[in-house]
Amino acid sequence: MTQYKNRRAARKAWEKAIKKETGGKKELFHVEISHDEYCGVFKQAECNCNPHRRLFNASGKLIIEVRGVGFYDPFEVTGVSNV
Ligand SMILES: [Zn+2]
Repeated sequence: MTQYKNRRAARKAWEKAIKKETGGKKELFHVEISHDEYCGVFKQAECNCNPHRRLFNASGKLIIEVRGVGFYDPFEVTGVSNV
């Protein structure tokens, strides 16, 4: 796993990988988000932890794994941003 120098660099790497792997393609991909046990998603609220993110292609090959990106927004992998 690549270590990024800060949250912004980690987020940019994640977003770039999502766009490269999924942009314009009609292929299956897998996103694995590992939330901390205290995270709001387990209490029917929004993510308030700093989950590990992993993106896999349809064959199950790991494309990228990042940590330190910050709160997870489900829209970040759809190309629809609410930011
Ligand atoms: Zn979370």
